[in-house]
Amino acid sequence: MAGQRGSGGQGRRYGGGGGRGGGGGRRPEPEPIRGKRDEAQLSEELLKMQGASYGRYKALKGDWDFGDFTLTVQRVQADPFAPPSRIRLFRPDAGIPASAYEDPVRRRATADYLGRRARRQLKGSLLKIDTGGQEVIARSSCQITEEGALDLRIGVDLPGHGRRIDGRTAERELCHTVPELADDLDWDEIDQEEARAFADSVADTVALRASLADRGLVAFVADGAILPRRSGVSDEPMAGQGVVPFASPESLRVSVELPHRGTVTGMGVPEGITLIVGGGFHGKSTLLHALERGVYDHVPGDGRELVVTTADAVKIRAEEGRRVERVDVSPFVRNLPTGADTSDFRTENASGSTSQAANICEAVEAGSRTLLVDEDSTATNLMIRDERMQALVHGDREPLVPFVDLVRPLHREHRVSTVLVMGGSGDYFDVADQVVMLDAYHPHDVTERARSLAHEREDAEFTLPRARVVDPGSVDDNTAKGRSKLKRRDMDVLVFGESDIDVRSVEQFVDPGQITGAGLALRALVRGRHLDGARTLAEALDSLEEALAEEGVTLLGGDFGGDYALPRRHEVAAALNRLRTLRVTGQR
Ligand code: ADP
Ligand code: MG
Repeated sequence: MAGQRGSGGQGRRYGGGGGRGGGGGRRPEPEPIRGKRDEAQLSEELLKMQGASYGRYKALKGDWDFGDFTLTVQRVQADPFAPPSRIRLFRPDAGIPASAYEDPVRRRATADYLGRRARRQLKGSLLKIDTGGQEVIARSSCQITEEGALDLRIGVDLPGHGRRIDGRTAERELCHTVPELADDLDWDEIDQEEARAFADSVADTVALRASLADRGLVAFVADGAILPRRSGVSDEPMAGQGVVPFASPESLRVSVELPHRGTVTGMGVPEGITLIVGGGFHGKSTLLHALERGVYDHVPGDGRELVVTTADAVKIRAEEGRRVERVDVSPFVRNLPTGADTSDFRTENASGSTSQAANICEAVEAGSRTLLVDEDSTATNLMIRDERMQALVHGDREPLVPFVDLVRPLHREHRVSTVLVMGGSGDYFDVADQVVMLDAYHPHDVTERARSLAHEREDAEFTLPRARVVDPGSVDDNTAKGRSKLKRRDMDVLVFGESDIDVRSVEQFVDPGQITGAGLALRALVRGRHLDGARTLAEALDSLEEALAEEGVTLLGGDFGGDYALPRRHEVAAALNRLRTLRVTGQR
């Protein structure tokens, strides 16, 4: 059953299932146009359609031969107000040199570069291409194949006057704007130096991240990096005189040799427990935020090109109200007043502390070995408990074991490192391996001083959370009902079948396309039988990742008619964990 619905494919001539909006009495789709189906014929047909009823556009579906490239009309909107139609431009030879695509990292970077160029070129037209913000993430809209072909997926608002076709405008867009775009992306036409520098920069970032483990680091922040952003709603670098470029404390400075930039220096954040302290407004959260984003590669000029974190780092926060499905939170939560078994904990409405505990246990379950935590978004009662409170509320009345008692065993026994921002309490002095103080955005190594203020602290025990086995039938995008339903509402909600998945607190979703991508990944987990009812969640994610490495981002697409970008396994897991229909059938 799965994957057999093929809406919008050329194979199906009739039927209203693929149309939007509904309303009875839908007319059968027009037969696809026959003939040479080349550029000249497309032009002629579009001009002939002038004034025809809007539904005639559907006859355009399929391939059109433009000589250098093929234009495929994949999906046609039902009316001028519906979401854009979808076209694909496939150009087998755009002159892209092997050096720009043979290596998968450079291929991703060059495709991203060309996508951004396409976006500029299409400004003011009816064509729209999805491109990234400050991050360089594999996406469906602009790809280079292993053979060096250029493959673009573009949205187009097919023009109409009311419910009548505006064929002249459509002809201009499809028969002039599109070929101009294809020409403009020709390797001979682009700024090759800039394209190379873009790919070099991304390759350096990837090399830098890959070098962390051997050096015993979980993150690196280059000297000179620009961490603050322009504003709360702009991810572009802050500019102007007030910006303080990053400068590592001497004691933490390391130097790394990169393939293109050569030697760079910066602050190495060692494995273990790193505490970031400092007064309010001194740049703590800004530093942590840069580390959260350091799992992604940034465009040249972003300021964070050389700020990297291990690829598996997960931001942890409290998230009151989320659902939790049979998570083993026993390291953090013991003897609840309800008597619930906390190694098999389920709730429709987690508290601040239990949600944060679940977030930590789920991150570790999905394979993260670096946790990023900011006091600004944590549940205080899960982070610390001071002596006076312990004196007042006795151990057996307090189900929570604070993170401060678990953070050392997490590292010592399970190699899970933590980078933690905490300006409001000295409790973590007791457990920190290094302490960095931000003073007016300048980092200082204050480990020695913090150690002299530390107390003895007895650790609690951290046993790895039990691995869960998921019922694939509980992860349903409505495939069973014959109609997949998958879409995104802003950066807030992933609509998956009948469920709204609240992803507002999943902070490492950085690109709208990744949210759609996560929905597609959930679907792929089920359809590809990675989730088979026997594998654990982590094993299913491994299996999906392998398939993605093999087939690339299009593995997720299939018959999906929209843009998406690649999420990490951790965000896929996060989406799954927030799915309210999720059912866990067992724990191992
Ligand atoms: P904290 O978490 O320590 O309270 P924030 O990281 O929220 O502080 O930063 C406070 C303000 O300082 C923010 O507006 C931020 O953009 C700005 N800021 C952070 N780092 C720098 C820097 N290196 N140069 C200039 N401004 C910065
Ligand atoms: Mg802060």
